[in-house]
Amino acid sequence: MEKKQFKTESKRLLDLMINSVYTNKEIFLRELISNASDALDKRYFKSLTDNSDLVRSDLEIRLTPDREARTLMISDNGIGMTRDELEANLGTIAKSGTLAFKQENEGNEQVSEDMDIIGQFGVGFYSAFMVAKRITVLSRAEGSDEAWLWESEGLDGYTIGPAEKDDVGTVITLYIKDNEDEEDYGRFLETYALRSLVTKYSDYIRYPIKMLIETSRPKQHDECECDECNHDECECDECKHDDEEVSEAEKEPEYETVTEDATLNSMVPLWRRNKAELTDEDYNGFYTDKFHDYEAPLMHIHSKTEGAISYNSILYIPSEVPYNLYSKGYKRGLQLYSNGVMIMESCEDLLPEYFGFVKGLVDSSDISLNISRELLQQSRQLRAIANGLKKKIKSELDKMLENDRQSYEKFFKNFGLSLKYGIYESYGMETSFLQDLLLYYSAREERMITLKEYVAAMIENQTEIYYACGSDIDGIKRLPQLKYMLDKGYDVLLMPDNVDEFSLKMMNGYEGKPFKSITDNDLNIGGEEEKKAVEERQTENRELLDAIKAALGEKVHEVRLSNRLGDSPAALASDGPISLEMEKVLADLPNNNSMKADRILELNPDHPVFESLRSVQGDDEQLKTYAGLLYDQALLLAGLKIEDPTEFAARITKLMAK
Ligand code: ADP
Ligand code: MG
Repeated sequence: MEKKQFKTESKRLLDLMINSVYTNKEIFLRELISNASDALDKRYFKSLTDNSDLVRSDLEIRLTPDREARTLMISDNGIGMTRDELEANLGTIAKSGTLAFKQENEGNEQVSEDMDIIGQFGVGFYSAFMVAKRITVLSRAEGSDEAWLWESEGLDGYTIGPAEKDDVGTVITLYIKDNEDEEDYGRFLETYALRSLVTKYSDYIRYPIKMLIETSRPKQHDECECDECNHDECECDECKHDDEEVSEAEKEPEYETVTEDATLNSMVPLWRRNKAELTDEDYNGFYTDKFHDYEAPLMHIHSKTEGAISYNSILYIPSEVPYNLYSKGYKRGLQLYSNGVMIMESCEDLLPEYFGFVKGLVDSSDISLNISRELLQQSRQLRAIANGLKKKIKSELDKMLENDRQSYEKFFKNFGLSLKYGIYESYGMETSFLQDLLLYYSAREERMITLKEYVAAMIENQTEIYYACGSDIDGIKRLPQLKYMLDKGYDVLLMPDNVDEFSLKMMNGYEGKPFKSITDNDLNIGGEEEKKAVEERQTENRELLDAIKAALGEKVHEVRLSNRLGDSPAALASDGPISLEMEKVLADLPNNNSMKADRILELNPDHPVFESLRSVQGDDEQLKTYAGLLYDQALLLAGLKIEDPTEFAARITKLMAK
């Protein structure tokens, strides 16, 4: 049979597994059981809609160790896999999280040995290669009468061929590695070891995990019918009451070894268990298993709500941003269970979009098992649960912000954008709910602060909240207007996200204090006298300013003086509802409606360059060169592109060649 190659990524992962020195090789069992459980879920879920007569209690996972043959079988009667699925699922597994980590740390022995990389990331099916030298997967998919056998001895590829299997499901056979000095692989063939692994990692799996177990128990003798035993034939020890008295010692029951089918797991779902008896490890293991993340979550929220509607929930906030969170491919929502049975894989209506990064599940006996999606959406129960969860998440975030700032900042770095979008997309309706969860970079304190903290630290007579936008913090720090504000003692919130200014507009101030961009002309600072002085100088220089405006033409809406530019000769500002930042964002939108900001060129009358401008007043040619250069410079400082680089270069050249 033709041997097929694993896809490159899979091959690397496989290599990692085969050559693993990882001490927790035992987690392979958890991985295979979790796959089996997923397969059972899928089959059961399908049966709900197919009107099939599948009974939930028929579904099971079975472990069959064989010490002589040195094999361990993990079988399930779940959904099974077709030929194509075997190929796709087991030939190309790209757990890029594990791989990326491994690559980043290649050559760094310390890290690769000490770090619990395999434990941190879910590693799936391939982890079985940590303990097996050969693996076969015999599978028959639901609705098909063909079975297929997938087989691999590791790196040199795999084969798939036709096979026989009477019932739907999958049997995975691991040919356990030979023992080595350091490693006793044989333990994975011992029933007591398997049983304790199941209890440790897979106890909550909601299907029985069964295994034949040999136990010894007191020998039961055939039923006696005598008085005391009432018949003479019986010759068992127990019945040796003939004539002689039996000594106590002889009365000891005899033991026999019997083989019994035992269910190894308690099947109590994690969320029904008592919080007090659960550890972080329990929650994290459940999370990485169930929600296909490689890393332990930042936090879990386990809650039980009783009342008009009762439900249990376990929610998780991931510790990293899912790579596709902000794209269409991201599946938002929580798993929904009705009394322990999953009825929906991801129920979007349980979470507001801005908490879309939350993963987890809800189980309620008040939601009917057979409710249709349409009815579910309108269900009062569902809305009540969603509302309860939303408040719960918020209050846990409030707590984190108060008690564990470092974790909160990490959270915000990852998901703060979602909250800002929440304000923007609700047209401000969610402002009061979300505003105190926001963090912004404070230019004065050089750290992330809340709006409450900003307001509490406002200086005397400050009535406005100052912010500055740009594409990144360092860029914003270069804005000429910033230095002036800081020198005067004002703090300024630096806002690098596209959505920032849009969400500020929706928030409409905080605690009655309006938000003001430091590039605005009408800030309530500096006092009347300063303003008057600028206006006077503006009138004095009217002709010059008009000439510069004329030289720049359509590029700017106005040229004016400003006393807030610090060491810079010029800067850009804008008037009207659209700022420069907003213009940039709008221009990037697919259905760009190209709304433009009204650009203002601000000049610093106290800068020597302003003298140069005055000196060339009247020389149209020269004034045009200077004005053009100043404008281009202001564009650069504002993080914008120079409109005509050739012209810019020509002007500089001209200046230098003088
Ligand atoms: P993951 O479970 O995270 O998707 P795995 O490597 O554990 O990744 O498994 C890869 C895929 O192989 C699964 O998504 C599933 O489609 C398929 N699979 C694995 N085991 C089984 C099984 N026992 N029954 C049906 N499908 C399975
Ligand atoms: Mg898996």
